[in-house]
Amino acid sequence: MIELHDVDKVFQRKGKITQALKNINLKVEQGDIYGIIGYSGAGKSTLVRLINALEAPSSGRVIVKDKVISEYNAKQLREMKKDIGMIFQGFNLLESKTVWKNVAIPLILAGKNKAFIHQRVNELLELVGLADRGGSYPAELSGGQKQRVGIARALATNPSILLCDEATSALDPQTTVQILMLLKRISEQFNVTLVLITHEMSVIQKICNKVAVMDNGSIVEHGNVLDVFGQPQHPTTLNFVRTLIRDSLPESIEQASNTNQHIRRYRLEFLGETAGQPVIYQMIKTFDIEFNILFASMSEVQDTVLGFMIIQLSGDAELLARATDFLQNSGVRVEELH
Ligand code: ADP
Repeated sequence: MIELHDVDKVFQRKGKITQALKNINLKVEQGDIYGIIGYSGAGKSTLVRLINALEAPSSGRVIVKDKVISEYNAKQLREMKKDIGMIFQGFNLLESKTVWKNVAIPLILAGKNKAFIHQRVNELLELVGLADRGGSYPAELSGGQKQRVGIARALATNPSILLCDEATSALDPQTTVQILMLLKRISEQFNVTLVLITHEMSVIQKICNKVAVMDNGSIVEHGNVLDVFGQPQHPTTLNFVRTLIRDSLPESIEQASNTNQHIRRYRLEFLGETAGQPVIYQMIKTFDIEFNILFASMSEVQDTVLGFMIIQLSGDAELLARATDFLQNSGVRVEELH
């Protein structure tokens, strides 16, 4: 659906050169809800601006629907842009126009007839839960309602791709969840591919199936959300994951718990079904070892439970090796901590 191959983007302003994107490779498949996360200045907005052809890459290729963007002629580019909806952090609504008119504008610009516009706008307002607010002005709406108008407007021309630029960053947590659930429903109901840029891991956790982590113009990690959350590799990813899930000992416990050579410490990761199995109980029953839980946490990612536990085991080395093998064979990921 969307592919970036070896993309670089360099800005030159007043003699100052900024390399905003470095060797970006990315593949978004149809139906994905693809999250792009990074701190401010990481290059997220620039990446999105390349996808909707607001910027051209300095080198490399941007492919949308099997065609390199630079090879589109002006008419094809206009058509392509109609197929990409965009929603923004600041909503970008016309304050002097009613909700109804705001949603109708893309259809008017596309030259649709009055009857069609009438039906489509009503349908869209119904979809986003604002059927009774068509006559209101943006200033009369809450932030969440304004973003619903933004979503209805973005969907007006029936795009197959929706780009969301920090779409929930200006909203409170409860409204954020409602908007994210609406986006998820739209993605499923209309098979719309979503690319969502954010600096909040909770947004990725709630609706994305794939994630790319950006740092200083590069994608430092990407893949299925569960894989990236379960085993973050890059320090930036680890920082983001730790904003949501603790996977290490609180310092007070770290200092208080003493270890000797017969005691070993392990980090266990439970995913999906294994989180509901009594594997620890079975291990204790099978092996004659002492066991102590130092820390445990659980979180839900993509409707799957992800749990971490840090345990201490004491017993002879061979027995401990067999016990941890037992856990691994039961589907728990085990890592010894030193
Ligand atoms: P993010 O969206 O992750 O905050 P941006 O893509 O906005 O990051 O910016 C990445 C880098 O590129 C920043 O250093 C920013 O200052 C620079 N940049 C973005 N757009 C321009 C531009 N039009 N001219 C010059 N520099 C730019």
